[in-house]
Amino acid sequence: MFSDAFVGLTCTDCGASLVVDDADPEAIAGAGPCPDCAAPRLPEYDLDAVDAESVREGLRAWDREAVLPFDADSALSAAEGGTPSVDASRLADELGVGRVEIKDESRNPTGSVLDRGLSVAVTAADASGADLIACASPGNAGQSMAAYAGQVDLRSYAFVPTRSPFSNKAMVNVHGGEMKVVPGRLGDAVDALETELQSDYVNLGAFSSPYRHDGLKTVSYELLADRKWDVPDAIVLPAGTGELVVGVVDGLRECEELGLVDDLPPVYAVQAAGCAPIAAAWEAGDDETVEWSTPDTIVGELEVADPPGGDLALAAIRETGGAALTVEDDEALESAVAVASTETVEVGLAGGVAAAGLWALAEDNTIDATDDVVVLNTEAATKAPDVLRSHLMGQGV
Ligand SMILES: [Zn+2]
Repeated sequence: MFSDAFVGLTCTDCGASLVVDDADPEAIAGAGPCPDCAAPRLPEYDLDAVDAESVREGLRAWDREAVLPFDADSALSAAEGGTPSVDASRLADELGVGRVEIKDESRNPTGSVLDRGLSVAVTAADASGADLIACASPGNAGQSMAAYAGQVDLRSYAFVPTRSPFSNKAMVNVHGGEMKVVPGRLGDAVDALETELQSDYVNLGAFSSPYRHDGLKTVSYELLADRKWDVPDAIVLPAGTGELVVGVVDGLRECEELGLVDDLPPVYAVQAAGCAPIAAAWEAGDDETVEWSTPDTIVGELEVADPPGGDLALAAIRETGGAALTVEDDEALESAVAVASTETVEVGLAGGVAAAGLWALAEDNTIDATDDVVVLNTEAATKAPDVLRSHLMGQGV
């Protein structure tokens, strides 16, 4: 079931290695953070064992099984990935940017980029023989986890905060998942999962599972392949847990190491100003994030006060020569509406944060008329259309 290049799991802090083999169910499941230092563990690959030609083309995420931990035949999949890069010429004109492409991740099975990672993480947990998987989530990860678990009748339990969108809560149950709605915010849901779920379970939270961000790296292979391996001048994406930033940069680095591209584009990670621990650490020049004391943004999917991948995201951004920045909620909603009304693409709230970040980068000429950029829409607008609609009402529409 393992791909040839997958070596095992390595601790991001102390470097301890864990060889994953068929006989060790705990290791297959992901085994959680490092037992010695509690840092996240990441999959490690021997890229010398990968034929670059085998990952040059691909219609779906698992077509690039050579750089994923498991072979595609073992995967719990619903044809995630293969999302289009949409040319957004009106947006580029308005911003005075050379070219803008929207990598539209809303077209994944549950309307979120996270499907790429949960497909891998649920595959791993199921292969380990787990009876129960669980995670605390702002919404999309819980929905995606339940969706993949349903393929094998695996019991799943999502802990979501009250503020999670109705569409997420409804679809967790529609996919057959169990759910606890926890009063408060994401941190309260994380605490509730740790204290209230008494059965043995595999935690599929970001960076509790080492596979979620690993599946996300397929976005990078695809967006580069969509451009015939011409490196863009920038990639702009939203940041919450840090998993997308880390996954995308891992993917870019692998593409460089495989000789598919010559260098890494700068990655700009955009956070909502009301909960921006990664951007605050970036602006302070720090290597580590500090828990945000008063999380308050309408973009619930990004309201992650204590991002489990914060430190790794900071290092990843630095590696690419990019930056982290913030935008106001109103700017994010305005940008999501502007893209939907001019470019057809139904940009969700988190995608609106990325689009607003692109606006800010164009305004301060970090990105200009000579630049060719990719912005990620990470979730479907239909997850929270009421929020977008009420933004219009605030303008008298
Ligand atoms: Zn360690």
